[in-house]
Amino acid sequence: MTVVRFAPSPTGLLHVGNARTAIVNFLFARKTGGKLLLRIDDTDHERSKKEYEDGIIEHLAWLGVTHDLFARQSERAPQHQAAANLLKNIGRLYPCYESQLELDRRRQRQIASGKPPVYDRAALALTAEDRAKLEAEGKHPHWRFKLSQKKVAWKDLIRGEVEIDTAHLSDPVLIREDGRFLYTLPSVVDDVDFGITHIIRGEDHVTNTAVQIELFEALAGTVPAFGHHPLLIGAGGEALSKRLGSLSLKLLREDGIEPMTAVSYLAKTGTSDPITAQPSLDALVAEFDLAKIGRAPAHFDPAELSNLNAKLLHLLPYDAVADRLAAAGVGGEAFWETVKANLTRFSEVTSLWPLVVGPVTPVIEDNNFIAEAAAALPPEPWDETTWNVFTKTVAAASGRKGKELYHPLRLALTGLDHGPELKKLLPLMGRSRALARLKGETA
Ligand code: GLU
Repeated sequence: MTVVRFAPSPTGLLHVGNARTAIVNFLFARKTGGKLLLRIDDTDHERSKKEYEDGIIEHLAWLGVTHDLFARQSERAPQHQAAANLLKNIGRLYPCYESQLELDRRRQRQIASGKPPVYDRAALALTAEDRAKLEAEGKHPHWRFKLSQKKVAWKDLIRGEVEIDTAHLSDPVLIREDGRFLYTLPSVVDDVDFGITHIIRGEDHVTNTAVQIELFEALAGTVPAFGHHPLLIGAGGEALSKRLGSLSLKLLREDGIEPMTAVSYLAKTGTSDPITAQPSLDALVAEFDLAKIGRAPAHFDPAELSNLNAKLLHLLPYDAVADRLAAAGVGGEAFWETVKANLTRFSEVTSLWPLVVGPVTPVIEDNNFIAEAAAALPPEPWDETTWNVFTKTVAAASGRKGKELYHPLRLALTGLDHGPELKKLLPLMGRSRALARLKGETA
C-alpha cells in the first residue's frame, strides 16, 4: 500500500507551485490505489495561521484534491520530543551554544580563507563542565544533528541517481534555542509514523533529502522513496517565487478559472503529455505516470491557463453545469449547447442569456437590407435548419453573400458583432423576438 503526503506550511495562501505538488501526490495515490495524507506543517508558530490552514483545505477541496488522512505537526510534539531524545541517546543530537553573531563571524573567516562555510563542530569538543558553565551563564543550547559525513545516494523517482556528500553540509539545527523544533525532524518523525512510502515534492528539497535520509536511517532503519519535481517558472523563464503571492488558487478562482482547468494544467505542465483540458480527475489519474515528469522546469503561463479554461468549458456536457446554470438563472440544455463554444469564463453565460430572452438593442446600419430580411423570416416551427433557409432567401433577394450578408443580420439580431452560432440561436430566440429586432425594436 502506498502512502504519500502533501505537507504545506500554513504561512500563506495555497499557490500554484504547491498546488501542483498536491495534485501530483493525489494522482500518484489514486493511480497506485494508495492513500494521501494532508499534513499541516505548522511548527513555525510565529508564521503559521489558522486562516491559512483553512484556506489551504478550502482550495484543495475546490480542486477536488481530497485526502484520506489528516495531521497537524503542532499536535505531535510528544512524538517529536521522543525522537529527539532517542537521537541524543545515540549521540546524534548535540547541544551548541554559539550565538548567531559568532556563527556568522566564523563563516566569514572560513570564506575568507577559501574554506567551505560548514559548521566546524566546535561544540562537540565541549566537556560536561564547559556546558554546565555556559548554562550557568544563562545560555540555552540549540541542537544539531550529527551528520555521518558520508555520501548519501538515492534513486530519485524523477531525477534518477542522486548523490550528496553530507561532509559538505553543516550539521543541521533541529531544535532552536527556545526549544522549538525546526521543520526537518518533525517531518521525518511524521513520515515514519504515518508509514509514508513515497515523498514527492519540489526539487528545492533535494539537499534536505540527504539530511532526512540520515534521520530516517537513525530513527526507523528504513527510508521511503523520493521524487523531486522541477519547480514552476513563468512563461518567459522567470522564477515564479516572487510572484507566487499573486498566483494563489484564490486568485485563479476569483478570476473564473474552473477547478478542472487548474488541475489539468498543473497535472500536465512539465510532463511529456500535451496540456489538454480534462473534464474529470479520473482521466488524469488514468494518464498519470511519474516517469512523464521531465527534468526541465515546468512553465506556468496565466494566458495558457486562460485558453485552457475556454477549451474545458467547450467540452463540458450540460449535466456538468445544469446546477450552475439554474443558480445563475439562465436557460437549459439548448442554451448551454448554443453558447458554450463562445465562453472563456462560465460567468459569461449571464451576459449571453439576453440573446435568447431579451432585451437586445439591435444595431442596424442598412435599413433597407434589414427590412428585406424581416420580410423573409420563415414561419415557425423553427429548428437548426431555419437559419440556412432564411439566409438563402435573403441572399437571393439581396444578391449579398459572405460577410456582407451575415454580419448585418448578426448585428440586428444580437446587437453584437460576434457571438454564438446563429443557426442554434435563432430557434431559441423565436420568430416574434427575431422579427421585432429586425424592425429595430429592443426585444
Ligand atoms: N512544509 C514543507 C514545505 O512546504 C514540506 C516539505 C516536504 O514536503 O517535506 O516546503
